[in-house]
Amino acid sequence: MKYVLVTGGVVSGLGKGVTASSIGVVLKACGLRVTSIKIDPYLNTDAGTMSPFEHGEVFVLDDGGEVDLDLGNYERFLDVRLTRDNNITTGKIYQSVLDKERRGDFLGKTVQVVPHITDAIKNWVESVSVIPVDGKEGPADVCVIELGGTVGDIESMPFIEALRQLYFSVGQDNFCLIHVSLIPVLGVVGEQKTKPTQHSVRELRALGLTPHFLACRSAEPLLESTKQKLSQFCHVPVGNILNIHDVPNIWHVPLLLRNQNAHHAILNQLDLLSVATPPDLQ
Ligand code: ADP
Repeated sequence: MKYVLVTGGVVSGLGKGVTASSIGVVLKACGLRVTSIKIDPYLNTDAGTMSPFEHGEVFVLDDGGEVDLDLGNYERFLDVRLTRDNNITTGKIYQSVLDKERRGDFLGKTVQVVPHITDAIKNWVESVSVIPVDGKEGPADVCVIELGGTVGDIESMPFIEALRQLYFSVGQDNFCLIHVSLIPVLGVVGEQKTKPTQHSVRELRALGLTPHFLACRSAEPLLESTKQKLSQFCHVPVGNILNIHDVPNIWHVPLLLRNQNAHHAILNQLDLLSVATPPDLQ
């Protein structure tokens, strides 16, 4: 199984869900089977009890799972049918670990965030990623994991640590980290500012994860000089800096990625160029 992890920096509501779904679309267009997992680091077990005014409408899956709207994006973009287990929350993870603790499964050990919660997250991701969601037999080729919230949030720390360990165990060729960040333009100066992204990448690296790609959200397309600066300070090759500027309709986002040859670079990172066919090379 190959994993593509999408994290977010600077502010929430940047478009991580749309970016992650669009990455799934371009990989699917290369002939790969794609599944997805959405991680919501809140303590609610699911979105069913959350106010739609605060959180957007609840999306109901075929198995009755009440989940985040992003799962709806994944189903529509990727033409898959997800299960309630494709949405991981802190509530679900703690509930499963505490149920095991009450059953005595830990045999008297002290139950801790590391390793017990982080192990539960890793096991959940590994077992759900192999469930077929496209009506075909056998596991998908790629699992796109979206980590909700913003890097640096206290509540997402166990997930970051678990995903860092997962990266280490599956190895370089099976893991691709895409960090979605904001490039604001400051007032009258009209300059695209890279500092917020530099800080959020530094935060991610301090937690043991270096992004392979930056997906930069901006009002207008990124200037070449902005890309050069981001590359230099964030330790990401210029060719892996993707620009997802504001578009009138989110269905344009997969096209934006394709036009930047993102699929080719992601396949290269995942060592999939020999098995998948990027449409522009056909
Ligand atoms: P997150 O997962 O980071 O919270 P979402 O993927 O839910 O963010 O997107 C937040 C909002 O931004 C949604 O209303 C979505 O339609 C919009 N959006 C995302 N990407 C773009 C884009 N490139 N251009 C315009 N709107 C976008």
